[in-house]
Amino acid sequence: MARLGSWIKAQAEGIYVEPADAWIDPSEPKPRAWVTHGHADHARGGHGAVLATPETLAIMETRYGPQSGQPIAYDEMIRVGEVEVRFVPAGHVLGSAQIVMEHRGERVVVSGDYKRRPDPTCPCFVPVPCDVFVTEATFGLPVFRHPDTGSEIDRLLHRLRADPSRCVLVGAYALGKAQRIITELRARGHHDPIFFHGAIERLNQLYESFGVELGELKHTASATKAEMAGHVVIAPPSALNDRWSRRLPDPVTAMASGWMRIRQRARQRNVELPLIISDHADWDELTMTIRELAPSEVWITHGREEALKHWCMTHQIKACELNLVGYEDEDD
Ligand SMILES: [Zn+2]
Repeated sequence: MARLGSWIKAQAEGIYVEPADAWIDPSEPKPRAWVTHGHADHARGGHGAVLATPETLAIMETRYGPQSGQPIAYDEMIRVGEVEVRFVPAGHVLGSAQIVMEHRGERVVVSGDYKRRPDPTCPCFVPVPCDVFVTEATFGLPVFRHPDTGSEIDRLLHRLRADPSRCVLVGAYALGKAQRIITELRARGHHDPIFFHGAIERLNQLYESFGVELGELKHTASATKAEMAGHVVIAPPSALNDRWSRRLPDPVTAMASGWMRIRQRARQRNVELPLIISDHADWDELTMTIRELAPSEVWITHGREEALKHWCMTHQIKACELNLVGYEDEDD
């Protein structure tokens, strides 16, 4: 009998689905690419034909210009070559999807990046039992346990109210995290205007065009220091220690990332208020997901593979590393 999932080849530049002649999240231009989500290390420009959710295609067009893309809605089933394929929610960022493939009676699910906790900007991860589960392992160590999101947002609001003469500047990845922080603040009852760095403006607009309500937003370029005092300002992480931040009223520097669990990472960026808010599964979410899907095999794409591989083996699940190149774990 053939090896499970033998029709899927892990190559250095991505996952090749042979009977469909398609690549998943390839790091180099390919004639046919299936893209799980819009982060730059998964969605690259220059492909021939792109299959992705409408949201992911829109994100790619914002970044790379017009795509010869075919939109696929969540749960729509299509056939490509000899493979039945559908995209189901991954709960990572707007439009993010797992790719579910069936061929010769085998089901393989490629998760892309994912998380299990609720996110007001995208539908929740949908568990699809499968024979082979291809997973990320960005936070694949037992030390990574993300706290409750609401309590992290409350810490932010508490700090904001503690000194109304200052602002709280939150570093957040421009695609996904920035919009999630805004919606999480709204969900916690914070309806004051939120100021934003120009680099996240287009993505804010794109989220709103897909129905994600962000409330009252203001561009920092058209605000005075006095207007921003006592308010939240959102900027990409690269702007935190940049000259740009001098225009802000004595900012309390915060950063929203799963990496804020590591004190040294917070210190490197001079972060005063580390907020552990992640768009990736933590250790408990990874292991819970594998338990729930009960696959015969787990293939690990990127991250801290060793501990997760070991966990799988102690739970009688075959596991291997794919050693794909080009995936970064900084998008959190
Ligand atoms: Zn991602």
